[in-house]
Amino acid sequence: MTEETVPNETSAECKVAAANDGVIDVAVIGAGPAGLTAGLYAARAGLNAVLFERIAPGGQLAQTEHMENYPGFPEGTNGFELAFSMKQQADRFGVNNVGEEVVGVDFTQNPKVLTTAFNEYRAKSVIIATGARPRKLGLELEDDLQGRGVSYCATCDGNFFRDKEVMVVGGGNTAAGDAIYLSRICKKVYLVHRRDKLRATAIYHKRLEDLPNLEFVWNAVPRKLVADEGKLAGVRLEMLETGEERDITVDGLFVAVGTEPNTEFLGGSLQLDETGYIVANESCMTEVPGVFAAGDVRTKFLHQVVTAVSDGAVCAEEAAEFLAI
Ligand code: NAP
Repeated sequence: MTEETVPNETSAECKVAAANDGVIDVAVIGAGPAGLTAGLYAARAGLNAVLFERIAPGGQLAQTEHMENYPGFPEGTNGFELAFSMKQQADRFGVNNVGEEVVGVDFTQNPKVLTTAFNEYRAKSVIIATGARPRKLGLELEDDLQGRGVSYCATCDGNFFRDKEVMVVGGGNTAAGDAIYLSRICKKVYLVHRRDKLRATAIYHKRLEDLPNLEFVWNAVPRKLVADEGKLAGVRLEMLETGEERDITVDGLFVAVGTEPNTEFLGGSLQLDETGYIVANESCMTEVPGVFAAGDVRTKFLHQVVTAVSDGAVCAEEAAEFLAI
């Protein structure tokens, strides 16, 4: 690590440099559920664990209003609170936090090198837990209207649309959860899906059907965003069965059409699958010894908080094994 001042609370001057001649034992990139759990396990194993996070801890979990399928909470729990508790627990066991975004890596060297805007860090092992971000529809005006009617986070922005009409696009768990959440705030919710069957878990189906202010729009895809005075005013849909167009007037559009992994900073250092997820096995090992991938950023059957925390634990233990060699 360089001698530069690090723009962060505890961060680098810290214990990063103090330990091992500035070489980190386990560098964890990303402080969502996978990264926080990896940090917790690594710190508890007595390793010098440093957690890099570019914005705020919690990842996508911190933007989830209500979690019903995380064990231990019979009535469900708030995602932000759960993420905050995970952070406190990791901190309690001595994880070091660096509030810098990792923008480049070099895994050809040992120790491995992580580059941020402010510093270069060296680490014996690296756990990548950078998660995923919402996928966009790819429509004209979509970027311009983000924050002006177009949103990718119902719990963050839903309140701006109190008593208004909104549309949710997607058929997965996120779309279903968003539609239920928005139905409590908004006058009307259109749930637009490109097929006639939801991908979302069955438990959501009945709940959605029972909502008096929700209208399903099946076999439909947004083709055009309509703006008025710089704000979203409506969405033009293509009805796939008939080829007809349907214009729906809405103030808000919540896009919930899946996620894309945050892997750009890797710059080709690791093998990715055809959709951009890091190829890693059930032990979270990538093809580079000492480099692991955990949570939503890696290829796996089920992307959930519970599988992300499982990955975090597994890869911290694998990193400890790797360091013991
Ligand atoms: P997802 O499960 O991948 O669903 C994406 C949905 O968007 C699908 O219904 C898909 O349609 C549709 N879609 C994809 N591209 C589209 C496009 N260009 N135009 C229109 N529609 C499009 O994504 P997600 O709902 O964000 O969930 C991501 C992961 O997080 C999943 O593993 C999910 O189970 C998990 N998650 C879990 C919970 C929970 O357990 N409480 C909550 C939220 C998310 P098709 O169905 O036709 O493919």
